[in-house]
Amino acid sequence: MNLWGIARLDDFDPALCRGSKISERHEGARSVIVIGAGGRDLFDSYLGSMSVREHASNAGSARIASFASWARHLVENEVGHLKRAGYAAQAVYPNDPRQTCFAQMAETAGLVVASPVVDLLLHPKFGPWVDVRAAIVVDTALPSTGELEFDPCSGCSAPCLKACPAGTYSEAGRSELARCADHRQSGGCYEGCDVRRACPIGRDQAFAPEQERMRQSQKLSWMRRTFGLGIWRWVPTGLRRRF
Ligand code: SF4
Ligand code: SF4
Repeated sequence: MNLWGIARLDDFDPALCRGSKISERHEGARSVIVIGAGGRDLFDSYLGSMSVREHASNAGSARIASFASWARHLVENEVGHLKRAGYAAQAVYPNDPRQTCFAQMAETAGLVVASPVVDLLLHPKFGPWVDVRAAIVVDTALPSTGELEFDPCSGCSAPCLKACPAGTYSEAGRSELARCADHRQSGGCYEGCDVRRACPIGRDQAFAPEQERMRQSQKLSWMRRTFGLGIWRWVPTGLRRRF
C-alpha cells in the first residue's frame, strides 16, 4: 500500500455519529494508522503475485474476494509487526459490519481531502484514484501526520458536477445517492464512474479497467444493502445494517 497517515482519536472520534466511533469498540484506543492505495500499484502487485493457474481460475466475484483477502493479509502483517513491537493493535476495514467513517479518518490523517463538490476523496498525486483500505487502531498516542493542505476544487470549473448520467449531483455539495444506486442496479456504470473520470486531478493514475470494474462491483454491493435493492428489499433496514 502506498498511502498512510496517522490521526489521533481526539481529533476525529468525538465528531463521529454514535455507533460508528472507534472509542466505542476499542477501549484504550488513542490513534489510528490509516492505510490506502493510490493508482494501480496495489492491483498490479496482486496480479503479479498470482500463478498462471490462479489467473485462469480466478475470475468475476472470486477475483474480487481474492484481491480483498490478499490486501487484508498485507494489513494483518503490519498489525503483526506492531504487536511484536509492543503495541496493542487491531485492524478495522471499511466493509466491517459496524462501519466507521473512513473518509473522516483518512482526511484527518492527511491521506486525502474530501471534495466539497461531489462525493470524491482526492489526493494531490492520485486525484480520485485512491482506495482507503484499512485503519489500524493502536493504544498509543502517536504523532499525527496532519491534514493535507490541498484545495483542488476551488477555482475548478467542476466538470464532475455534470458528468453523472443519473443526475446524482444537482449542485455542489448536494447529492442523491439513491439515483446512483438505482442506475447501477439497472446495469449502469458497470465499467466505471463518469464523475470520477471527469476530475482532471491525477488522470494519469487512473485504475486499470479490471480494477475499476471490481471497485464498482464492491460499491454496488454496499449500495444494494444500504438502499434495500435486489434481495435486500426483503430485509428490514435495521437488520441490513448488521451485515
Ligand atoms: S473536477 Fe474539479 S471540482 Fe470536481 S472533484 Fe475534481 S477538482 Fe474538485
Ligand atoms: S457511478 Fe454512475 S451513477 Fe453513480 S455517481 Fe458515478 S456516474 Fe453517477
